[in-house]
Amino acid sequence: MAHQWRGVIREYADRLPVTEATKVITLGEGGTPLVHAQKLSELTGSTVYLKVEGMNPTGSFKDRGMTMAMTAAVEAGAKAVVCASTGNTSASAAAYATAAGLKCAVLVPEGKISMGKLSQAIAHGATLLQVDGNFDNCLDIARKLGESYPVFLVNSVNPARIQGQKTGAFEIVDALGDAPDIHVLPVGNAGNISAYWKGYKEYSAPFESATAGTLPAVSTKTPAMWGFQAAGAAPFVAGHPITEPDTIATAIRIGNPASWDTAIAARDESGGFIDAVTDEEILDAHRWLSAKEGVFVEPGSAAGVAGLIKKHAAGEVPSGKTIVITVTGHGLKDPQWALRTEDGSEVQPVKVPNDVVTVAAELGLEES
Ligand SMILES: *Cc1c(COP(=O)(O)O)cnc(C)c1O
Repeated sequence: MAHQWRGVIREYADRLPVTEATKVITLGEGGTPLVHAQKLSELTGSTVYLKVEGMNPTGSFKDRGMTMAMTAAVEAGAKAVVCASTGNTSASAAAYATAAGLKCAVLVPEGKISMGKLSQAIAHGATLLQVDGNFDNCLDIARKLGESYPVFLVNSVNPARIQGQKTGAFEIVDALGDAPDIHVLPVGNAGNISAYWKGYKEYSAPFESATAGTLPAVSTKTPAMWGFQAAGAAPFVAGHPITEPDTIATAIRIGNPASWDTAIAARDESGGFIDAVTDEEILDAHRWLSAKEGVFVEPGSAAGVAGLIKKHAAGEVPSGKTIVITVTGHGLKDPQWALRTEDGSEVQPVKVPNDVVTVAAELGLEES
C-alpha cells in the first residue's frame, strides 16, 4: 500500500541534521509534482519538467526550509521566532510557528507584499509589522533581533533552512533516476539556488550520514544551475548589491542577497550562470505557464521559465537534454496578474441573461 508522504524531514532524515529523538514540526511539505512541460519541451527540443512548489502546504517552497528551521527552534527551546519576508517566508513561518506552538513576528516591506501572503500570515496569528523600508532593511532588523533579543531567526541565513530546501534536488533525482542536465530557477535572496546545488552535490557522491553511516551516491552527475533575477533587482548580474530593487515580481525584489557567496559558488562550480529577465518577460512566462502548461504560478515564480524562453530565443538552449525548472510559488498568492491582459487592461467577465439560447450564442455554439 502506498504510504502517506511524511514531510521532508522524515523522508530524508538520513541526510538531515536530525535524529530519531528530534521532535519534528511538519505540515507534510515536499513530495511536490514534477510535471512534464509539453509546450516548453516542444519549444526547446529538450525534455522540460516543472517542479511545482506551489503545491506545498502554504503554497511555496519556503515550507521545505521552514520545517527544519521550526524544528531547530523548538530544539533550541525558543519561545518566539522572527523573520523578514517578501511574503512567502512570513506565510510559511506563521503556519509552522502555529504547528510548533511558538509566537511568530514577521517584518515585511511596506506596500510590497501580495494580499494572499499577507492574509496567510494574519490567518495563522503572526504579529505582522510593515517596515518603512525594503526587504533588505527588514532582514537587517530581523538579524539584529535574533542576535540581541530572545527570538529565533528563521530566515534562510539560518543554515537549517538551506538543509530543508536541499530536499527539492533529492526529489527531482529520485523521480528522474538521475540529475537533470540543467536546473533553472528564480533567484532572489539566493537561498534556494544555494540549497539545490548543495542537494545535487550531496546526491552525486557518497554521503556521511550522522545516523546511517556512509550512503552511496544516488546520481551520476550534477546539473548546470541557471538562475534568473528580475532586471530591476539583479545584483548578481550587476556584480554588486542594488540599493533600490524594483520589480512586479515581489518574491524576488531583493537588492542585497544574503546567500551571495554560496550562490556564486553554485553558479561557478556547476558551470551555470545567473542572468536577468524583464518584468514583461516574467509576465509573458506567467501567461505561458497558465495558458499552455496548465500550471498557475505567482509572477516571481515564472522568472526561470522566462529565462529559458529568452535563452532559447538567443539559440542558447541545447536540445535533447533534461531540464528542470523550479516554479516556486502558487498563482493564488498574487492572482490579480492573471486578470491583466497583454495591453494592461483588466479582464471583465461577460454578463449574460439567465437563458440557454443567449449563453450558447455567446459561446459560439450551434444547436446539434
Ligand atoms: C523566496 C522566493 C523566491 C526566491 O528564492 P530565494 O531563495 O530568495 O532566491 C522565488 N520565488 C518565490 C515564490 C519565493 O517565495
